[in-house]
Amino acid sequence: MRVDAISLDGFRNYEGFSASFSPGVNVIYGENAQGKTNLLEAIGFLSGARSHRARGDKELIGFSRDKGTITAQVHSRDRDFLLEAQLFRGSRRKLFVNHVKLKTAGELAGIVQTVLFCPEDLSLIKSGAAERRAFLDHAICQLRPRYGEALTQYNKLLEHKTRILRDWEKNPGLLQVLEDFNEAMARAGALVIHYRAHFIRKLAEKAGEIQREFSGGREDLSLSYATVSTIQDPLAPTTTLYEGIRLHQENHAQGELAARSCLSGPHKDDLLTEINGQSARQFASQGQTRTAALSLKLAERELFRDDTGQWPILLLDDVLSELDARRQAFVLERITGGQVFITGCDAPEGEAFSGNVLHISQGKLVAGERSGQECPGFEAAP
Ligand code: ATP
Ligand code: MG
Repeated sequence: MRVDAISLDGFRNYEGFSASFSPGVNVIYGENAQGKTNLLEAIGFLSGARSHRARGDKELIGFSRDKGTITAQVHSRDRDFLLEAQLFRGSRRKLFVNHVKLKTAGELAGIVQTVLFCPEDLSLIKSGAAERRAFLDHAICQLRPRYGEALTQYNKLLEHKTRILRDWEKNPGLLQVLEDFNEAMARAGALVIHYRAHFIRKLAEKAGEIQREFSGGREDLSLSYATVSTIQDPLAPTTTLYEGIRLHQENHAQGELAARSCLSGPHKDDLLTEINGQSARQFASQGQTRTAALSLKLAERELFRDDTGQWPILLLDDVLSELDARRQAFVLERITGGQVFITGCDAPEGEAFSGNVLHISQGKLVAGERSGQECPGFEAAP
């Protein structure tokens, strides 16, 4: 899967911009505030018509414009697609594939998949469990729609149960339905744990290999899944997981009433990481935890490939500057297979780098370097 070319008009700081890309590594470099992340955002938008940082389409449209357009030539599942997104200040967006208007953004996600890594993700290992759960949820949702359904259902039940536990003293009648909620949560929760456990098992294998290579064989990264304590084996059948959650609920029933909050269930899960046998969160250096976070994302990308048969497009925003020379070289030279976009402030150095280089300044390609060629504008949807 790859983006061969893109045209942007009225998207962020881009006006009448077009560029073509290599099927391998593309480095987008330039000074601060020139449009590197904006370009990555536009590529990310091709998958599911969502931005990782904008709250709505209006943010994406050029300040002085009423309409923003992203047009891209994409190759996926052995076919070529022309994708187009038209964003409007005053009305609903329009999405097209090969000039045919789409009903839902989900149809785009079926063509392009991306794995994005941005500077905030560098702290994934050191940050709170909620960020790591969000990482797991995002990845598994893309691979397994059934997981998304179970998670949504679980979260709705959790919200209700939280309200019951908060208000039961004022309104003791609420306690009559508490048991029904526990039962339904244990059922949805067992599915959530089932999918997380299987995903983490596969992720752990891949991430371990990647970290070893990243660190020149010096770092052994291991992942483990911390879930409801009465569950001995998260890979057990869902009926066993269900029983484990029910037992934990019983043990904590009094505690939950006293604490007035929900103490039992996979909403407290965590993904634990160890480097060379020590908790990465507590003991690892900045560089080690950044590398480990990157290893998790690269592992996610490999799982996608194994699952769908295609490499998703990897978007790495501004991660190189935080790594030492050897780790930088690993990112630039060793991520093989699939298309990769990497932004940074400097052009890559060294003979070994053979990818495409795009120098961006004020929303324009700087010509005359070994840079992505201007591509001929392709015919947009009417
Ligand atoms: P850095 O190296 O600091 O991360 P960058 O090259 O990634 O910089 P971008 O985040 O891509 O920079 O932003 C480039 C510029 O785009 C910013 O100066 C910002 O003000 C501008 N910009 C953001 N949104 C819009 C918009 N809707 N319309 C016009 N310009 C915008
Ligand atoms: Mg940026």
